[in-house]
Formats: sequence, C-alpha cells, structure tokens
Amino acid sequence: MPRTAAVTVRVPAKVNVQLAVGAVRPDGYHDLANVFLAVGLYDEVTVTPADALRVTCTGPGSDQVPLDGGNLAARAAELLAAHHGRTPDVHVHIAKDIPVAGGMAGGSADAAGALLACDTLWDTRTPREELLELCAELGSDVPFSLVGGAALGRGRGEQLTPLEVKGTFHWVFALADGGLSTPEVYRECDRLRDLAAGTDPAFDLADPAAPEADAALLAALRTGDAHDLAAALFNDLQPAAVSLRPSLAQTLTAGADAGALAGLVSGSGPSCAFLASDADAAARIAGTLAASGTCRTARPTTSPAPGATVTTP
Ligand code: ATP
Repeated sequence: MPRTAAVTVRVPAKVNVQLAVGAVRPDGYHDLANVFLAVGLYDEVTVTPADALRVTCTGPGSDQVPLDGGNLAARAAELLAAHHGRTPDVHVHIAKDIPVAGGMAGGSADAAGALLACDTLWDTRTPREELLELCAELGSDVPFSLVGGAALGRGRGEQLTPLEVKGTFHWVFALADGGLSTPEVYRECDRLRDLAAGTDPAFDLADPAAPEADAALLAALRTGDAHDLAAALFNDLQPAAVSLRPSLAQTLTAGADAGALAGLVSGSGPSCAFLASDADAAARIAGTLAASGTCRTARPTTSPAPGATVTTP
C-alpha cells in the first residue's frame, strides 16, 4: 500500500580516496578509476504526498540549490514516477548538511535519497538493479550514494564494484565558502594537461585510456591501515581545483601542519579531506583547522558510512 505519511531517507557524502582521470572520451566524459568512500556527513530527504511536485531545502548553502526541475532530487522523483507510469506528486524536502558544490556529491546524495524515499512512499518496490540503473541515468556519482560503504567506480564512475574495508577511518573535512563547478574543474584539468604535455611529468597521462585503481590503496582499505591509506591518497583533479581556487593550497598546508596523516582536495573541491590517526587526533585537527582562517568550518567524521537508508519507521 502506498504510504500517506512522510518518508525520510538519510544519505551520506563521499570522498574520493583515489580519483584517476583518463583522457576525454568522444562523449565528453573522462574515463575514471574512482575509489569512493562514504563519509558520515548526511543530507536528509523527506517526501510527503502533495498535489504536485515541489522542492524545499534548508541548511548551509541551501540558497545555492535550485528548487525547480533542475534539482537532482526532483529529477529523481520524476524519473521514478515515469518508470512506474505515475505522477510525481510529492513534496521533496532536503535538509542539507553536505556542502553544496563542495566535491562531496551532495546533489547526487539527494537524488539517491529521493529515489529511495519515493519508492518507499509509493510502495513501487523497484528492484535494486533497476534503482541502480535509474541512479546512473541521473548522474555518475548517484549509484554510489545509494550503496555507500566503499566502491571502485569505473567508466565515468557509475560502474561500481564494492570494496572491502576493515575498521573505521577518521577524517576531518575543511569546508569552504562557495563551491566549485565540477565541469569547470574537469575543463581546467584538461587545460593544465594540454599546457604541460611533454614538459611536466606531474600532468602526464601514463595510460590516458585506462586509469587503474592503485593496488596499494586497495590493500590499505582492506587492512584498515590509516598510514598506508595516507601514503596512497591521490586526486588527479587537485591541481585543477587549486588552480581555480589558489587559497586551497593554504587549507592543505594548514591541515598538514595541524597533524593530519595526509590531505587532499575532495573530488572536484573545494572541500578538503584530511586523514587522522584516530578520533582524538581528528577532533584536534578540526579545532586547529577551524581556527586557522583557511576554511569556513572543519568537521571531524568517519568512514565508511552506510548508503541511503530509510529512517522513518
Ligand atoms: P560532485 O562531488 O558530485 O561533483 P558537488 O558535491 O561538487 O558534486 P553538488 O552539491 O552536487 O556538487 O552541486 C552541484 C550543482 O548541482 C549545484 O551548484 C547546484 O546548482 C546543482 N544541484 C541540483 N540539485 C541539487 C541538490 N539537490 N543539492 C545541491 N545541488 C544541486
């Protein structure tokens, strides 16, 4: 039976502990080897029956979130409704805690959350495989937001293989004022690579067609060794994000000075992720970073986090 009461789904943010970017494909996307970890910062998506589809949003940066048909959660509700031949007559409310345009897949999280919430509200019982296909239609990072945990994303990031992770990793996220546009960061990555082609090995593509997951990084996740993971973290988009937002270099230095095992730009930025040896170290690093003046705020958290989860009884 379709529900008449509200359904709330909690969805995690992600960090890419490895983001290897290949050359541009004919369809304009880049081939990726993308190791996702879900982290404990969450958006909550609540859907309630309504006369017509509408979206509201509260929380930090919510004034930057489109409330029309361009909202990824609204598109998810429409896509699922069309899949089942019904109307998307819901009020979607997003309580944001994931930074907007922060490189932590907040919009993708909301899309996955809205899909699961509507599927529950409407009692449409979409098989998991079909839900994942709808997620991939909505965006490259959306399937991972649904499954959470840890996964390797191939193709443009949407072809997921779950990864084994032992124990808990402790992180601090330095959140910035204002976002960065993911397409712009990819364009800057291409521009820097074109400029440096053949002269700067840092920008050379070893094998542009087929970026590979790093064996040492996957082993560090399996053994749960934070020091090994710290040594293996990398993000091919980092030079582009720092080029577009030079102040990120100061944020990265401040995290290293505060005692992080390692730090990197999260996805396309401007959020920066710092790995800590334990919860106490994460709390200390967060305090130092927050006081450093190099970010808007600093949030300690852990990974892996569960994927989209219905939280209403
Ligand atoms: P990614 O890490 O997947 O590249 P991001 O975290 O950098 O993405 P998002 O927060 O997903 O960025 O937002 C990117 C853009 O998408 C925003 O600037 C906004 O215009 C648009 N958008 C559409 N729907 C949403 C949503 N529900 N929440 C946030 N942004 C949304």
